[in-house]
Amino acid sequence: MSDSVKYVLIIPDGASDEPIEELDNKTPFEVASKPNIDKLAGEGVCGWVLNVPDGMYPGSDICILSILGVNPALPDVYTGRAPLEAASMGIEMRDSDVAYRCNLVRIEDGIMVDYSAGHISTEDAREIIEILNREIKEDGIKFYPGVSYRHIMIWENGKDRIETTPPHDITGKPIKDYMPRGDGAERLIDIMKKSSEILRNEKANMVWLWGQGKKPNLPSFTKRFELKGGVVSAVDLVKGIGKLMGLKVIDVPGVTGYIDTNYLGKAEYSIRFLEYEGDFVLIHVEAPDEAGHNGDYRAKIQAIEDIDRYIVKTILDWAEEKKIKLRILLLPDHPTPVKLRTHKADMVPFVLWSNLLKVRGESSFNERTLEYLRPMCLKEGYRLINLFLGKDCATSCNECLLGSCKL
Ligand SMILES: [Zn+2]
Repeated sequence: MSDSVKYVLIIPDGASDEPIEELDNKTPFEVASKPNIDKLAGEGVCGWVLNVPDGMYPGSDICILSILGVNPALPDVYTGRAPLEAASMGIEMRDSDVAYRCNLVRIEDGIMVDYSAGHISTEDAREIIEILNREIKEDGIKFYPGVSYRHIMIWENGKDRIETTPPHDITGKPIKDYMPRGDGAERLIDIMKKSSEILRNEKANMVWLWGQGKKPNLPSFTKRFELKGGVVSAVDLVKGIGKLMGLKVIDVPGVTGYIDTNYLGKAEYSIRFLEYEGDFVLIHVEAPDEAGHNGDYRAKIQAIEDIDRYIVKTILDWAEEKKIKLRILLLPDHPTPVKLRTHKADMVPFVLWSNLLKVRGESSFNERTLEYLRPMCLKEGYRLINLFLGKDCATSCNECLLGSCKL
């Protein structure tokens, strides 16, 4: 193995939070037992960063682009979530194509009853997508099967300036108020109506089209930072971003996006990648975000503890045993407060650690301990990666933290 520095970026999705009454007004980061993350904070540099530009929705796609050093507010960078998922599914888009996220949903009496059609199985969904491709014979329209209720529709020479609504935002509401609007919307409405006729006897009885965009123009991470990198995630959106930026998608068996994911596998496959293939790896864990959406603080605490025990510890042990020069950056992409049950466009705490230079850090990694650092929040989140990768240093020696060699 080469002597190069290894970089591990760990994103516990949506993990930061606000004080929770049931937890004596503490946050999950405060309550969770996480000695390894606290060790990073104790020997590294902590701070706050804002990953969502003003006026944009704090989705994981936007926030993770920012963490990877891309300003999501620049034109053509973030075009929608569907093209990112399409990339992850291996769909090659042409410049004139527009990708739509195609949910299989359940409608009853004109009401959006279930945006996931009961988390329909991938096999059942695949059959339905085949039926749609066979029955909806429209020029330039094609459906691609994904996982469970999540699929993609490609519209050749399609329109993308149409107002669409995520189906999970309108559960229990009449769909007629949320149909696509704008130039080209009739075509979408027509396809959705046709689907409801074709699928009237199925559990999933309609498709819902949203999240559209043209092929995004993302810079290559590999070229820009001269690092070969990989990405580990259960989520298509994150894998798609990685793929479009030239990171290798590392498939890990047993990853789920839920609390039962294969944490240890994520660490072990990342280590193998760092030993034999590259110098940078992004490990994304969806479970804390899912817990936030479910309003389940226990699950969020559990997810943080499992990330600590199975991912952070495994990587620290490896570096110590094999004498690896290691830098770690750990931060959520956005808060998903348990009380709100959705994402918040707010700053998140981060910790930057290196075993090449240990500093006197903080007693613990949580919102309360780090509260005093909030006024120093880095508002352009996409700049943090430069500090992590030593690109803002005077010497690029990788031996200081946060460019402190300039001081
Ligand atoms: Zn989320």
